[in-house]
Amino acid sequence: MTATKARIFAPYYELRKKALTCPECGWQGLGVDLNVSEVFERSCIIEYVCPKCSFDIAFTQGPTTQESRANWDQVSEADRLMVLTLEEAERGVTPEA
Ligand SMILES: [Zn+2]
Repeated sequence: MTATKARIFAPYYELRKKALTCPECGWQGLGVDLNVSEVFERSCIIEYVCPKCSFDIAFTQGPTTQESRANWDQVSEADRLMVLTLEEAERGVTPEA
């Protein structure tokens, strides 16, 4: 990977709303329009590429359940289910203080 054009990092929900320009082909759009190229489950890193030329544009870290709650109106149906499941799991392992 050549590092001449730095990739953008932004928190998950911030990135989705971000106006972006592909440094490679000039595509313009929002973060939510990018294609996911890779998801690293262990580090929760999600990599995004340009939908037009597949250039590595940006990466983010998967949202925490707190971040999802704070941006609930942007959370898709499937992701909401995931958040609820995660919250349940969190409640299961973390005793209420
Ligand atoms: Zn591009």
